[in-house]
Amino acid sequence: MKISVLTMCPEFFDSFLNSVLVARGAKRDLLNIEIVDIRSFAGGSFRHIDDSPYGGGAGMIMRAGPVVSALESVLSENSHTVLFAPAGNTYTQQKAHEYSEKDHLILICGHYEGIDARVYPYCDELLSIGDYVLSGGEIAAMAVIDSVVRLLGTIRSESTEEESFENGLLEYPQYTKPRTFRGQEVPEVLLGGNHEKIRRWRLKESLRKTAETRPDLIAARQLSKEEKQLLEEIKEE
Ligand code: SAM
Repeated sequence: MKISVLTMCPEFFDSFLNSVLVARGAKRDLLNIEIVDIRSFAGGSFRHIDDSPYGGGAGMIMRAGPVVSALESVLSENSHTVLFAPAGNTYTQQKAHEYSEKDHLILICGHYEGIDARVYPYCDELLSIGDYVLSGGEIAAMAVIDSVVRLLGTIRSESTEEESFENGLLEYPQYTKPRTFRGQEVPEVLLGGNHEKIRRWRLKESLRKTAETRPDLIAARQLSKEEKQLLEEIKEE
């Protein structure tokens, strides 16, 4: 898979490209990331990529010309173009899976007060990584790339299959050595080696955590008979 990141801050990605999973993805030919400097598509000796907003108001707006020229320099038949914006659809694990199936993902990072709206028709979607405002789309791009890289075979699939959101539930609590930490014990069931009991305990704790913190996920779920029974047990505790 290829990912092209269009940004006015290419240096943000220097250490990110050397992070373990991204570097492993590149080494195994699972992923090819190119960072494109939008500024190099701005004409004039000052390479201005921003200007003041029509109608007045605070801040500067990224000009459409350099952004669309940068986009056209990487666009191919199989590209899927994503523009980061707080007003976009919210990013989810399901989207990460969708993106991991793409041949070519183009991620456009805004800055200042955002990008001239006339860039939108050149994009397949606007994407937000949450209800807060970042200074630029670079952190959003890293969040998307990091979550996609995990699904490309850079880590063992058993590691991702049971993670939060993968099956519509949050992950159960995990423990490692030592067995006792400042008076807190590892739950006894995890020490016994009974795989069926461990599976059931983990499912129950997953349901408990999800019901407590994300009841919307429980409401949206087709609960199995076992899950209904475990939720009843939790209510009665
Ligand atoms: N004025 C814009 C607004 O009110 O929606 C915010 C612009 S923000 C300061 C600059 C850029 O950061 C945006 O164009 C976008 O690319 C990126 N950005 C900020 N928050 C984001 C979020 N929650 N998700 C994705 N991208 C975000």
